[in-house]
Amino acid sequence: MSSKIEELARANVRALTPYLSARRLGGNGDVWLNANEYPLAVPFELSQQTLNRYPECQPKRVIERYAAYAGLAADQVLVCRGADEGIELLIRAFCEPGKDAVLFCPPTYGMYSVSAETIGVEYRTVEAHEDWQLNLPAIAEKLDGVKVVYVCSPNNPTGNVINPDDIRQLLEMTRGKALVVADEAYIEFCPQASLTGWLKEYPHLVILRTLSKAFALAGLRCGFTLANAEVIALLMKVIAPYPLSTPVADIAGQALSDQGLALMRQHVATLIANREKLIADLRKCDFVEEVYNSDSNYVLARFTAASTVFKTLWDQGIILRDQNKQPGLSGCLRITVGTAEECDRVISALQTLSGASVSREQA
Ligand SMILES: *Cc1c(COP(=O)(O)O)cnc(C)c1O
Repeated sequence: MSSKIEELARANVRALTPYLSARRLGGNGDVWLNANEYPLAVPFELSQQTLNRYPECQPKRVIERYAAYAGLAADQVLVCRGADEGIELLIRAFCEPGKDAVLFCPPTYGMYSVSAETIGVEYRTVEAHEDWQLNLPAIAEKLDGVKVVYVCSPNNPTGNVINPDDIRQLLEMTRGKALVVADEAYIEFCPQASLTGWLKEYPHLVILRTLSKAFALAGLRCGFTLANAEVIALLMKVIAPYPLSTPVADIAGQALSDQGLALMRQHVATLIANREKLIADLRKCDFVEEVYNSDSNYVLARFTAASTVFKTLWDQGIILRDQNKQPGLSGCLRITVGTAEECDRVISALQTLSGASVSREQA
């Protein structure tokens, strides 16, 4: 029986395909290498027992600690429900549905298009060059009406940092016209590449950060938007009145303590060592065509028989992320860097992959 509810929905919502997050894709694994999470849980204890009260909108301790960590002033920091909420708040504050547009450069993170579509804002894409750097002349041609340009660096899923000189040129060509949003979700793996130091030169630069990756807190849902005070004040107009629950603020504050930061940096060092070994080991596997260098906690590799590799590892409980459908990434799988044991599981699974099953796909 039709309830006509479907017809009541906004046309752009009816047309939406929800973002297929790693979690939604499912799988029955014991080695989860598909969502760029930290492989081990970090223990925390709640210290706040005041759940009868509403939380602070922008918890002071979290803001002050993140500002100190990022080398910025408190009024340059907004805390929100993951970097994903930052992506969306920027569209809601700066883009007029049906009129303005956002722009980004595939292959890249999937939520820029999903947020734009949900809100009913046009998105334009300019494919990256073959080395996954920005195609600046093509971007310049498409900037008319664009209010927000997302640049993911290090880029997910390719793992490369975007050339700072190119981002500078992008900032020059967008001055007074559009925001440039640097998505630095993985910046802890290459902190020297952060653009936070550029905020004083560029009023239209915005930086997205998260506790989901290097800080090992994907389940917490806590991220940050860094920008000049004028941008932050506008975002504060559209954010929910209580974006962070008290337990989230409590744990985020602990994660950003000196101890928390030291632990995070230790974890990053371990993952980088694991990553370099994983890359070297992958390069020795027969049917691996190319393994790309990475400045993040994941590795992109091109296989001669990607779907067989994906399926075979899936059946052994090793869950990777298929990137085959992204422009320029046919045959590519993204592998999150896990523990040393998890990396070894991947390599031994690849080594025992029978030559027969690989050649069947090629045929
Ligand atoms: C994981 C990720 C995010 C989302 O981070 P959350 O804080 O978990 O919402 C944003 N951007 C990129 C590039 C990511 O990979």
